[in-house]
Amino acid sequence: MLPRPRGTNFPLILRAIWLVSILLLISVTEIRAEKRRSNVVCRQELSAEQRSLLVAKLQKITGWSDLTFDHTGSLRVGNKEAAGGSQGARDLVTKAVDGPYVVIVEDASNRSDVVFCRVVPGRWKHHTLENPPVYVVLIDFADFEHVMGDDRALSAFNVGWALLHELDHIVNDSSDATSRGEPGECEAHINQMRHECNLPERADYFYTSFPLITETPFVARFVRLAFVDEDSAANKKRHYWVLWDANLVGGLDEQKQVATLR
Ligand SMILES: [Zn+2]
Repeated sequence: MLPRPRGTNFPLILRAIWLVSILLLISVTEIRAEKRRSNVVCRQELSAEQRSLLVAKLQKITGWSDLTFDHTGSLRVGNKEAAGGSQGARDLVTKAVDGPYVVIVEDASNRSDVVFCRVVPGRWKHHTLENPPVYVVLIDFADFEHVMGDDRALSAFNVGWALLHELDHIVNDSSDATSRGEPGECEAHINQMRHECNLPERADYFYTSFPLITETPFVARFVRLAFVDEDSAANKKRHYWVLWDANLVGGLDEQKQVATLR
């Protein structure tokens, strides 16, 4: 053992400050480690392009410019303050990320049983009592490529809104409409977020047929979905539409004309 050189003995107060700093550093590190947990994860198979698309839409809706999927596929909300966007969407994403269940985002492109997006209960390969409930959000990215329409309606109907719709089912146990002419409980929540983003709101949960006369031998079956801007002061409504060929997107076989974004 060597004697401590003269003059390097810390006064008691400095040692106390040093000790407190170390303890604070440990707590901050622990808090940051805690923040790293995320219960919304995308599968490895989700391509870089699909992740980028989803991230871009979610950034725009939430106003979180550093929201992203990290290298493990976990959804991170980032540390930057939100710039614009919807508070309701931020609350929903935060609840999902911190929630008592795991949400897996899976590519279901070109699957006939998925019309845009849907959520199904998942199962662990090795089930134990400690495993939290798991949900799988299936996204048919290809379906969204077939959607056309007004710019404002397209901004209110994309893959980001689709994921939020499914998260709302999981987080808030909300239900979809069962009859025409109403958005339903889940879409009412999503409409509030659209309102916060200054976007038109979805008027109906169910799409309607869009008759189109065509002389080509290929008979398209266009359907459309209405989005509405309401000017209560002027007592006026302005409609915006998205439409797609249901032969390409699917859903025609289901009863009652399928509800999109289940
Ligand atoms: Zn739904």
